[in-house]
Formats: sequence, structure tokens, C-alpha cells
Amino acid sequence: MKFSSISNLLLTASLIFCSIVHAEEKTKELCFFQTANGKVSQVIGKDNVPEKYSDSAKCISSNNAKGPQLAKPEEIELSGNIRREDISSSLGDIKLRWPRKIEGLFGRTPLRALTDSANVVSKVIRQSSFPPHVQNINSTWNVVYMDENLPESQIPFQLISNCHPGWMTPPTNIYIVAQRIAAGCGGQKASSTSVADSELAKVLIHELGHAIEYQLLEGRQWNDRMRSEGFATWFTQYAANFSSLVSARDLRKEYFEWARQSLKQSPEHFNFQGSALDYARASLYFSAIENRLGIRGIIDVYKEMREKDIDFFAAADSKINWNRERLEQEVRKVANK
Ligand SMILES: [Zn+2]
Repeated sequence: MKFSSISNLLLTASLIFCSIVHAEEKTKELCFFQTANGKVSQVIGKDNVPEKYSDSAKCISSNNAKGPQLAKPEEIELSGNIRREDISSSLGDIKLRWPRKIEGLFGRTPLRALTDSANVVSKVIRQSSFPPHVQNINSTWNVVYMDENLPESQIPFQLISNCHPGWMTPPTNIYIVAQRIAAGCGGQKASSTSVADSELAKVLIHELGHAIEYQLLEGRQWNDRMRSEGFATWFTQYAANFSSLVSARDLRKEYFEWARQSLKQSPEHFNFQGSALDYARASLYFSAIENRLGIRGIIDVYKEMREKDIDFFAAADSKINWNRERLEQEVRKVANK
């Protein structure tokens, strides 16, 4: 499997949600701009950018609309004064780089934030239900924090123009856009560095969760974005119980509210398109299994996926006897708990 293509990238929703409109026609120029409420809009041609956004809009030739492939974290060019740390953590060695100018955005150093989150994730996976190959994970992690000036020659355009605060590529590469966490898309600053620290912890745990899921699957059945984001979103809520920075109760409340909104809007059909509500709803498949069968139920379903090379719904059906209808029923039950 090729992991470098855009369709294989996993993106995090976090609390920052922006959408992008895809132009279907071939045009000379695609222009993107961020509106005051933080959404990214796309128009065809510079002339169609509203005047107040014309200075901040970015335009590219449609021939180049996808932009370059994503460079490895260790190759991402950072500007200004750069810190580099190679450390060992509870999940293995971490190679980390960041531009010094982002340090003021957070109360904790980027290094401390990452080691804290690695410790939280380590506590989660050291529970007995996780298979030994995940519990004993000892990988080399490549992590880069970037500021808002993303190197356009090294990052696909979709990632530059959307507002996702972090990305992960298998097996253990993590990219964090610091400003998007601390300041959001609309440029409104987090109310304090402790709020920014909490947001950063959520994003880091979510991205580490993707890497744990990849290990659970040993790379099989990887290309299912709904399941991957559902898992990582559920994992963040679960792991928050082990974190001093993230309130598990508040996070659950927020995600469950979004999931209920999604269920209300479309009770019968769920077509994952990457909105924050979609992430929340996808996570309920995991919350529903956890609610009835504990973490072990989730881990058993992953074992089934891995061993039989089948997708999530087929594995839930064959391993825990929940067909899709039963699973949806359990989702509605857990959402209204
Ligand atoms: Zn994600």
C-alpha cells in the first residue's frame, strides 16, 4: 500500500472545523481564503475573492491543485530558530523538531506536551485487553510541530487550505500545526495557555491513537477513514481518563452532543464526510461496544479484522454477533444515555 497519497492521510477534526468546497471544473486558478468565522472558502479566479479577503487569499493553478506530496516530518522545512530533541519515551524513541516561535502559544514546552501525551497513551495500552505487540510498542516516532506558515512545496494543498490541526501517516509520523491549535482557524486566540495545552493534548492523543490503531491492525484494512477517525476520536475520550490536562467528562459531553445532532439530522444514513459531527458519530460505534463489552470487545473486533482481513462492520458481525442493524441500535442507545 502506498501511504504517501492524500487519500491515505488521516486528518484530525479536533474542535476546529472548517470545510472546503471542491471545484469540479478545470480552471486557471483556484483561490482559497479564510472567512472571519474560520471557514475556508474556495472560489474560481482571484476576481471572485471578496475584497476584504483578497490580501490573505492564496491562489494556485488548477493544474497544481493537489500540490506536492507530504514530506516526511524530519524533512519539513521550519523557519527561524529551531529546536530538535531526540528522546526516549514510554512508546519508544521520539525524534521531535519545532520552531522556537511557537513556544509562547502553550504553557508547556512542545517536548513536555508530547511526553505527557505519550505517557497517557502508554497507560491506556498497557491494559490487559490490548495485544502484547501493541503493549510492547517500541517504535521510532517522527514528530514535527509547525507554525502557520506551512512550507507549500512540501505539503499537499488540501492540508494547507483546511484547518486540521494535526495529521498522522503510518506507522508513526505526526505533524502538528501549532497555531491552528492555539489560535483556531479564525485567528481567535485560546483564552489561556492552559486551554491551548489542553487542546494540544487532545490533538496529540488523537494522532497517537491513529498510530495505535495502525498497530492493532498491523496495517490491514487501513483505508477506512470513518473507522479510523471513529477509533481515534473514541480513543481520545477514553484516554482523557488518564490525563490531567483533558477533562474526560467535558470531552464526552461535547462529542456526544455532536453525535446526537448528527443522528437527529440523518437518523437512517451515515455518510462520513469528515465534519466534526461525523467524527463524533463515528466514535459512537466504539463507545457502544465499550459500553456493553468493555475495551476487550473493541480489541476482539480488531483482532477479527486483522486475522480475517475484513472490514469493521463484518468483523463486529462475526466476532460479537452485532450486525449493522444491531450496531446502529446500540449507537442510538449509548447516544441517549
Ligand atoms: Zn484523525
